[in-house]
Amino acid sequence: MTDGFGRTIDYLRLSVTDLCNLRCVYCMPPEGVCKRDHGEICSLEELTELAAACVTLGVKKIRLTGGEPLVRRGILDLVKGLSALPGLEELTMTTNGTLLADYAAPLRAAGLNRLNVSLDTLRPDRCRALTRGGELERVFAGLEAAEAAGFRDIRLNAVLLKGVNEDELGDLARLAKDRPWTVRFIELMPIGPGAAMPDAFLPAGRVLEAVPELREMQSEGSGIKDQRSGNRDQEMGEQILRFARNDGAGGVARLYTAPGWAGAVGLITPMSCGFCESCSRIRITADGKLKLCLHSAEEIPLRGLHGEALTKTIQEAVRRKPAGHRLSDTQPSDSVRPMNEIGG
Ligand code: SAM
Ligand code: SF4
Repeated sequence: MTDGFGRTIDYLRLSVTDLCNLRCVYCMPPEGVCKRDHGEICSLEELTELAAACVTLGVKKIRLTGGEPLVRRGILDLVKGLSALPGLEELTMTTNGTLLADYAAPLRAAGLNRLNVSLDTLRPDRCRALTRGGELERVFAGLEAAEAAGFRDIRLNAVLLKGVNEDELGDLARLAKDRPWTVRFIELMPIGPGAAMPDAFLPAGRVLEAVPELREMQSEGSGIKDQRSGNRDQEMGEQILRFARNDGAGGVARLYTAPGWAGAVGLITPMSCGFCESCSRIRITADGKLKLCLHSAEEIPLRGLHGEALTKTIQEAVRRKPAGHRLSDTQPSDSVRPMNEIGG
């Protein structure tokens, strides 16, 4: 499927719930969200039908998100159903990791390929404050279980927060020194409660100041070039090369590593360096609305549509995908929904 600007759209982010067991300060109000009537949220069958329609139109990768996807009842059945869709090449999930210790092995068995785990701090007290109750220990137990279950290329997502985790950028990045993980730093976006935190914005470049040994990796044809030293593939482990390729064309993270590191560091800069021109994504919310851009107000209702009516609606909408967002210091997201309803 291509949009009106010739971009190939092959990546769906499917939100399976807007509920969450945490209340991260930049994502959710302290009181959480009102539980919606059962009927307002798509059933597992509906979510599968919507995802299947996207796959027939050329979507090759689906990321399950939320809210917290692991609080959705029946999540394992959904994973099983989606992983069996012919033509789907990768099924992944973004989770806060707090329930992963119990879910990692069954998720793997159900066919999930990869995991992104959100982790903004390595200090238990900070984690508790930032997520309003989250236990760091449980996230690490989840990560351990994920590795034991056979998940590879695990990515950690850390939102950069001035005055909050600013002094931990080095410690967070160095998680990738001994472990084959990619630690991805994400600039805070002015959406949901994050829109009321302009003073907390911290540019991703700060990570490079905190960890000066990092060198940029760049996908270059079939090889990867280390930009600072000019060294080629052989200096880097196979795992690192795979990270770089995964995040290469169409990916959103600029990747860095250092000699001897097992993993990599990614910088995601939706604010200071737009990546809209190569955007390959669409999103579907848990109540069945298609979003063409994370930050646009337009939503296309898909519930109740089936077969050709469904695929045609998606295809026609995708042609209207906007060129990019208009976020800036003074311009918050146009999205009428906070992140817990879209999923990032
Ligand atoms: N609950 C899951 C989790 O936390 O990983 C999945 C949903 S969460 C909305 C997806 C990602 O969005 C998380 O990595 C979170 O840190 C990020 N996020 C939420 N609000 C954000 C904001 N205002 N700016 C940048 N990232 C944000
Ligand atoms: Fe929940 Fe994820 Fe939002 Fe935190 S970022 S409140 S874990 S949905």
